[in-house]
Amino acid sequence: MDWPVFQPGWVWLTGAGPGDPGLLTLHALNALRQADVVVYDALVEPAILTLAPQAQVIFAGKRGGKPSAKQRDISLRLIDLALQGQRVLRLKGGDPFVFGRGGEEAQALVAAGIPIRVIPGITAGIGGLAYAGIPVTHRDINQSVTFVTGHDQTGAATLSLDWPAIARASEVIVIYMGMKHAQPIADALLAAGRPAAEPVAVVTSATLPGQTVLETTLGALAADLATSALTPPAIIVVGRAVLLRQALDWQAMAAGLPPRDVDPLGTHAKAASA
Ligand code: SAH
Repeated sequence: MDWPVFQPGWVWLTGAGPGDPGLLTLHALNALRQADVVVYDALVEPAILTLAPQAQVIFAGKRGGKPSAKQRDISLRLIDLALQGQRVLRLKGGDPFVFGRGGEEAQALVAAGIPIRVIPGITAGIGGLAYAGIPVTHRDINQSVTFVTGHDQTGAATLSLDWPAIARASEVIVIYMGMKHAQPIADALLAAGRPAAEPVAVVTSATLPGQTVLETTLGALAADLATSALTPPAIIVVGRAVLLRQALDWQAMAAGLPPRDVDPLGTHAKAASA
């Protein structure tokens, strides 16, 4: 295979995946090996930067709720480095075009006449849940899935969202950046008719050695989070997909536990005959 050659003056906007370096794409690795400078976000796992030993690394960390002026600074920095003739690897957690402002950075670069390449990554709301044994779609549960951010641009709760519509739209709802506003989000979904007993999982530091999974319900989510010592980053998933973890917690198997023959959806007989 001919791998793309990183030309000076280009910016490659690249997804680093949710954490585990093994979830990088081969294109991301190809980029890391050629970059002159890597501009990375707070959620990029440090071990990934060791794959670019030749590169200068610049931290452009920004966690939710900070003023958006910093985003402009980051874009200007990228433009500046590219104009200097550097091979600029812009490394973002997960997928660069999923709730990470990668689209805005790409627009700023193109507007400045800088050529870009985009390398998608595994997003936390899919890969992170897979590491918790939770499939985001399953034929017996959902035909659609909704990805939603719990923060808006100002960092306030996204209560301007149409939660009744979101509640009706899909069986499974995957919430990014939802930890801080878990209470109002849960209240909004309950008010829209989602049952209090509906399963919810909170997956923190997904795919990393420190991954934790809190299993709760929509009614108990906020109280359980308040008494837990869990810290972001976290993905919150609402829906029966969470039940599948009882059978599909493959990390427990990797840790030596035997597979558990449980049938959380009560569909084994159906699966066997389908
Ligand atoms: N572009 C990223 C998302 C950026 S927004 C992606 O595609 O995954 C940042 C949010 O992503 C965090 O607040 C959290 O909700 C989620 N996130 C990113 N990495 C995570 C991880 N390893 N574990 C849990 N949540 C994660």
